[in-house]
Amino acid sequence: MFEKITSQQAIELEDRYGAHNYHPLPVVLSKGEGPFVWDVDGKRYFDFLSAYSAVNQGHCHPRIVDTLIEQSRTLTLTSRAFYNDALGPYEKFVTAYFGYDKVLPMNTGAEAVETALKLARRWGYEKKGIPSNEAKIIVCKENFHGRTTTVISFSTDPDARINYGPYTPGFITIPYNDLEALENAVKDPTVAGFLVEPIQGEAGVNVPDEGFLAKGYALCKAKNVLYIADEVQTGIARTGRLLACDHENVKPDMLILGKALSGGMYPVSAVLANDEIMLTIKPGQHGSTFGGNPVAARVAITALEVIKDEKLAENAQRMGEIFRKEMRAIPSDMIQLVRGKGLLNAVIIKPKDGKEAWDVCMKMAENGLLAKPTHQHIIRFAPPLVINEAQVIEAAEIIKKSILAF
Ligand SMILES: *Cc1c(COP(=O)(O)O)cnc(C)c1O
Repeated sequence: MFEKITSQQAIELEDRYGAHNYHPLPVVLSKGEGPFVWDVDGKRYFDFLSAYSAVNQGHCHPRIVDTLIEQSRTLTLTSRAFYNDALGPYEKFVTAYFGYDKVLPMNTGAEAVETALKLARRWGYEKKGIPSNEAKIIVCKENFHGRTTTVISFSTDPDARINYGPYTPGFITIPYNDLEALENAVKDPTVAGFLVEPIQGEAGVNVPDEGFLAKGYALCKAKNVLYIADEVQTGIARTGRLLACDHENVKPDMLILGKALSGGMYPVSAVLANDEIMLTIKPGQHGSTFGGNPVAARVAITALEVIKDEKLAENAQRMGEIFRKEMRAIPSDMIQLVRGKGLLNAVIIKPKDGKEAWDVCMKMAENGLLAKPTHQHIIRFAPPLVINEAQVIEAAEIIKKSILAF
């Protein structure tokens, strides 16, 4: 059906015909299974990126693949102009699973963030009584919430923002992990919500101090401000709990999910909230052609069942501890710091003889493990959560060998 191509051909084609909005490691993948991927020459790698935590359930999980195939042979898209027989059962399932009244289904993480922002503003005007067009949302420095025009308007990363203005107003930026700044910011009566990542993934796995979530939540509640958790990357068992907010027993007013909601099979995202918030949006006031389609609905149910049936949160917790211990035992001054929770981890690399995180990643790829630098000196290590202990040890050996090569 499709012709086989070489690595070099694949790279040349992308370079010539694709927009240059990514800078991939020069590895061309053609197959995946569990925690592994294979390149076009049949070389096997540990995948320690998991498509930015979308593939928590492992590559091509057979149960999710079966659901995808079965549903795509039956009915793929109706749009929301009509009902379909998969969406309602999914909505019941996902709201019970996470404990909310309602869900608003979208496709990508950025779309779900946009949806949450719209809901927060709506709620601000219609429930909190904020004067028209004055609502503000508090966000954190070094945030990552996606790539749409509004979302990059409150990014503090110059690469994400530069020459994309004019920017959407209505955002207040505070430092991450700064409760004092949050306490001050929520005093403004025009603040509708606080949008936060429980751990900042893209910023380099910034783990906040213990109490940042629970105390932050309490500060928001005291001032009638919505606590909006972006768990697109941290959610769905990645950090050793179903949600990263569970580490501090915080139940966000709005929960944003994406990525692993489909096990990396299909773009599926969601915003969960209770009626007081969700019912402020009425028919015709928000939507998406693909949001809530039957394939997405069925795939998401299976993807979430796999998380529970295979105890992936518990496994992430246990494997994460082993992984960090292995990393901290590597005798190299290039390892400046190891941090993370569950299987969302990062190692900060101190450059040596001009060799930095990118060179370490190239060496690891040569040795059979894929990871990618974020912010030049940080390498994120986030394998699929189905990885077992022997595999974690084997992977740690590859990382060690690669770092000690410098
Ligand atoms: C990846 C990510 C997003 C954006 O998701 P897309 O599907 O790429 O639009 C939003 N928030 C966080 C925390 C993410 O990690």
